[in-house]
Amino acid sequence: MKNVVLLGSTGSIGTSTIKVAEDLPDQIRLVGLAAGGNVDLLMEQTVKFKPEAVSIRDSKTAVDMQGALGTATQVYSGNDGLLKLATLESADIVLVAIVGTAGLQPALAAIRAGKDIAVASKEILVMAGDLVMAEAKKYGVRVLAVDSEHSAIFQCLDGKANESIRNIWLTASGGPFRDATKWPKSCFPEITVEKALKHPSWEMGRKITIDSSTLFNKGLEMIEARWLFDIEMERVQVVVHPQSVIHSMVEYVDGSFISQLSSPDMCLPIQYALTYPERAPSRRVETNFAKIGQLTFEEPDVDRFPALALAREAGEIGGTLPAVLNAANEIAVDAFCDRKIRYDQITATVAQTMSRHEVVQYTELEQVLEADAWARGEAERIVAAF
Ligand code: NDP
Repeated sequence: MKNVVLLGSTGSIGTSTIKVAEDLPDQIRLVGLAAGGNVDLLMEQTVKFKPEAVSIRDSKTAVDMQGALGTATQVYSGNDGLLKLATLESADIVLVAIVGTAGLQPALAAIRAGKDIAVASKEILVMAGDLVMAEAKKYGVRVLAVDSEHSAIFQCLDGKANESIRNIWLTASGGPFRDATKWPKSCFPEITVEKALKHPSWEMGRKITIDSSTLFNKGLEMIEARWLFDIEMERVQVVVHPQSVIHSMVEYVDGSFISQLSSPDMCLPIQYALTYPERAPSRRVETNFAKIGQLTFEEPDVDRFPALALAREAGEIGGTLPAVLNAANEIAVDAFCDRKIRYDQITATVAQTMSRHEVVQYTELEQVLEADAWARGEAERIVAAF
């Protein structure tokens, strides 16, 4: 039995994790749940799973929840609440699925309390991957991937030595604007929020869906892979694979490729992270290759999607630049969703913010947080000036 704390229980990854917990009641016990603003769903989950503790963003709502729940479940709030949950005595593993950067400090707190972490929130590895991985090594805990691509790579690597890897290949669906004849670069300024939110193969939260359409999601994943698998950026490659059946591949030095395949469903990588090193049975994901018919591949279009080049640059230069890329992208995606900027201005905001940043090769978390705050301010100014 694994005791699991789930940060971001009301989101897309969170609710898929709840399904996995329902499938495996003898293997997974949810001991802590945290959410942002969706109090109704958090209440429903709390009544059903009876965790020891829960946390909600707003402190007044937490008081109301405590009143309604009585003493069986402790209700916390805010960032302190996330830290309390991440370090809950009974927890074996903390799954971080909070959108954005709010998961970074809880993830570090969990590691320092000796908990394994399962990472869906790629932003925390993009911002401070070397710090997170160094702390995990120091405290002897695992950092398990929840992202389907990184879960695939983890499964394909199976403990093989770093020197045996020629390249890691992240597959990308290409997003809704993959087809250059239908979506030439000249029409990018007209792309609406509704169109960008229609992903061809995955159902996900708003931020990651927009990131998938600009390919910033793949860019963030390149940096995530660099830290998770301790591999230089030049050995991290991207290939477009519209069917999203091959979740990623490892190319070995002898020329062999090993890949992990299945129909797209986040329950599978979530379950693997929570039951690792065991494989638990599941009927949730069925893959019928005869029906799928074809698996196809394309070069990514770096001219229409400069996000990949920006992410490669940030990953190669390192220091505070990946945190700046991530923060500027968050501001730009919000501004696009609030209809303050055009679709093509998302990438422009990130590029301009990066070009104005003086990179610091940081040693402390505070330096990363400073760069994050600086980038948010700078990106806000750029957005306001468009
Ligand atoms: P969603 O937007 O669907 O969910 C975000 C979750 O974070 C919600 O539960 C939200 O709570 C919670 N949250 C936001 N702010 C806070 C806060 N301050 N304190 C506590 N909880 C908070 O996002 P996704 O599930 O799609 O994505 C989550 C992370 O996983 C992202 O980093 C994403 O990149 C990554 N990921 C997602 C995949 C997917 O398929 N969705 C695939 C791979 C990675 P509430 O709703 O109550 O406000």
